[in-house]
Amino acid sequence: MSAIDPLTLAVIQAGLQQVCNEMDVAFSRSAFSPVIAEADDRSDGIYDRDTGALIAQGEYGLPVFVGTMQHSTGELIRLIREGRVGAPEPGDVYIVNDPYLGGTHLMDVRFVRPVFVEGELFCWLQNTGHWPDIGGAVPGGFSAHATEVEQEGLRLPPVKLFKRGAMDQEIFSIICSNIRVADQRIGDIKAQGAALAVGESRLMELLAKFGRATLDEAIAEIRARSAERMRAEIRQIPDGTYRSEAFVDSDGVVDEPLRIALTVTKAGDTLTFDFAGSSPPCRGPMNSVVATTCSSVYLAVKHVFPDVPINAGTFEPLVIRRPEGTFLDARYPRPVSGCAAEVSQRIAEAVFLALVQAIPDRVTAAPAGTSGNFALGGFDPEKNAAYVMYQITGGGYGGNADHDGLSNGCSTIGISKTAPVEVMEQYYPVLFRRFALREGSGGAGAPPGRLRGPLRGRAAAGRGPRLLRDGSRPFRPARRARRPRRGPERGAHPPRRGGVHPAASVEGPEHRHPGRRPGRDHDPGRRRLRRPGGARPGARRAGRGAGLLHGRGSRSAVGEARVMRYFRPTTLADALAIRREHAVTVLAGGTDLYPAASARRAWGDPAQADILDISGIAELRGIADEGDHWRIGALATWTDLIRADLPPLLDGLKAAGRAVGGVQIQNRGTLVGNACTASPAGDGIPNLLALDAAFEVSGRAIAAADFFTGYRATAAGPHDLVTAIRIPKRPGRGHFEKLGARRYLVISIAMVAFAVETDPAGRIRDARIAVGACAAVARRLAALEAELAGQPLAEAPGLVAAHHLAGLAPIDDVRASAAYRMAAARALVADGLAALSRTSDRRAA
Ligand SMILES: Cc1cc2nc3c(=O)[nH]c(=O)nc-3n(C[C@H](O)[C@H](O)[C@H](O)COP(=O)(O)OP(=O)(O)OC[C@H]3O[C@@H](n4cnc5c(N)ncnc54)[C@H](O)[C@@H]3O)c2cc1C
Repeated sequence: MSAIDPLTLAVIQAGLQQVCNEMDVAFSRSAFSPVIAEADDRSDGIYDRDTGALIAQGEYGLPVFVGTMQHSTGELIRLIREGRVGAPEPGDVYIVNDPYLGGTHLMDVRFVRPVFVEGELFCWLQNTGHWPDIGGAVPGGFSAHATEVEQEGLRLPPVKLFKRGAMDQEIFSIICSNIRVADQRIGDIKAQGAALAVGESRLMELLAKFGRATLDEAIAEIRARSAERMRAEIRQIPDGTYRSEAFVDSDGVVDEPLRIALTVTKAGDTLTFDFAGSSPPCRGPMNSVVATTCSSVYLAVKHVFPDVPINAGTFEPLVIRRPEGTFLDARYPRPVSGCAAEVSQRIAEAVFLALVQAIPDRVTAAPAGTSGNFALGGFDPEKNAAYVMYQITGGGYGGNADHDGLSNGCSTIGISKTAPVEVMEQYYPVLFRRFALREGSGGAGAPPGRLRGPLRGRAAAGRGPRLLRDGSRPFRPARRARRPRRGPERGAHPPRRGGVHPAASVEGPEHRHPGRRPGRDHDPGRRRLRRPGGARPGARRAGRGAGLLHGRGSRSAVGEARVMRYFRPTTLADALAIRREHAVTVLAGGTDLYPAASARRAWGDPAQADILDISGIAELRGIADEGDHWRIGALATWTDLIRADLPPLLDGLKAAGRAVGGVQIQNRGTLVGNACTASPAGDGIPNLLALDAAFEVSGRAIAAADFFTGYRATAAGPHDLVTAIRIPKRPGRGHFEKLGARRYLVISIAMVAFAVETDPAGRIRDARIAVGACAAVARRLAALEAELAGQPLAEAPGLVAAHHLAGLAPIDDVRASAAYRMAAARALVADGLAALSRTSDRRAA
């Protein structure tokens, strides 16, 4: 037992955990691809300098990477020792995605960074990020028909992508030349590298506080204690041999089930896992590499004993016999793309099925057991760019002794989220028609009437995306199961009454299963995705999954009742008269109004204003060319603006429209509504300032500069109606830059709108630049505008200085600090000028 005191030990343990958690967050926050930024398909950890053994892993990272990443670090150390990979130096980052070197599939790309203290290697940091594409036969990398790993994409042995802090452009070029949508990869690569840099600096803080010797001692002690804790759990299991089997329906190429045979032997404080008798390696992509097989056992055991902290010690009492000669120990060149999303879950299922015989009260009924991967790729003419969409969808978890399973939980092996459909619709040319819990997806269970029967979780999902524009080759690894899976039963139930539930199914014409009849949904532009629920061996009860569809229940107001009046005139004259005579709130699209009203009610304010709904007034619709100006009617939605044929001057306003909420919000929300809310974060407002717009307010004109008078305050009075916004015609181009915590569906941390006119030589004739979300009211940067006049646009980004932003007064809030907002605004101004310069170069060419 170490001499280190328990308090210091606890603080160091939490500190190491925090280092990993911060890496996780930094990675997701800065990544470009939704699969990482939205779905969190990534993981970060700290590894032993000599063996690669796991020291700590982020709580927000994928459990399946728990074993693979330490395996991968171990392989890297081996290759360095053998002289096959260059020795580490400070600032180096190795990249590797070779599945046979401690990986999963090729899309899971690992970055490994050595951490040095006073010139000596202290540990390794590693992260894995799921890249949406790594080349190969199909977009997204999950080729259902691959028979060799080369068909699945680019395989990278460990090489230094960053050498002493600088990225190797040649390696980067090789990677980019072999993958789809390469232009986005730089964002993910920088994010992945930056996450490790964050980890290193946080680790240095911990080292500075406790010193290397204490940290080393604590790490060894934490590992020893975790091992002992796991041994204590295992000692509770009755000695014996427990057998189970699970099946993968087919490998995608040969239409035969793959069998996972598992024998778990409990003796003393050790659990031994033996997969002898499992199917031999398969031709299709459902082989599992040994690191993934081990990882699947680890994560399954961790599901059963969730309280044991994660590090290499946790798994010391687990002996996994290498499943040589089976599809669970894939060797080159076996294809492996299905191993992480599907086979790993069946392995976990086999572990649950074996352990439930020994400890029925500790194991839940069967979970959904699929990651529900769905990949779609093609060319989006609207964005003039190729795309690869990759989506993970949840499923149900099996019930427990005293509560229902989780509805729409992530897969057994993951912690990833389903990216919001609104965000996916913004990124990709798809439209989701339905996304809902599937009632009954947990399957029928044991006869009703059982007491304390395990309950079930419902699956997520429902109807999948509909393609709006071109798309090709969707992938769907999980098909309708012909062999219904049997979930682990719980103790109260006789054997073989486990929750039988349907597995996932995806219907569509491509990659149809060999020997299977076509699915029902044959519209080439339409996909239906259905996910399984968790098993439910207990009595049927009304679905009580997570509250995804649950309302909060209405509260009746106490006190004097008042009837809300609702006016919906069809002429402007009537609307103006109602507005003059009544104290009414104007309703346009309602996308600001209704959320604000709900928020007020949630805080206990039941007051409801009378409503003047202007949506029936045809005169307020449309965008018109009126000679010297464009007139944008009060009912023109963001979608109307985006689709309108307008000159480049309004490009910034259109870009703001695309950045507002999701497609549904753009279809209802109006520019005028955005302006009248006068939120500091209203994306339309800086554009209106940069465009020198004017408001038509109850028959009078008010310049945009005078319209916005303060925080959520405008010059329009309580009896005014804004009928339109006028934008004077002039030469020049508009542009818009927005920064939020994520790419779409986000409130701005800072945004900048530009309207810039240049002469034929590329010098700026006139620049109007307005910054939003950095003061109560968006501000023009008058000093910068004056300085830019006459300067070459190409040089403009370099001229932006701190004093140009002196008039801004950002606040600290949950979204960002004032200092961060200032820095972001300055960077956005420079970025926007650079983007304008690039597009003017292209036009000139
Ligand atoms: C999920 C979600 C995401 C969002 N994302 C963004 C975003 O990214 N960026 C952003 O800027 N906004 C965002 N919004 C806010 C909102 O969608 C926009 O501000 C939208 O443009 C408001 O337009 P509306 O027609 O729905 O306004 P409404 O809600 O109908 O009205 C807004 C306000 O303006 C007043 N008003 C409306 N029309 C008139 C008129 N003709 N005369 C006088 N007063 C009038 C109303 O009384 C009300 O006070 C989001 C909202 C939601 C719900």
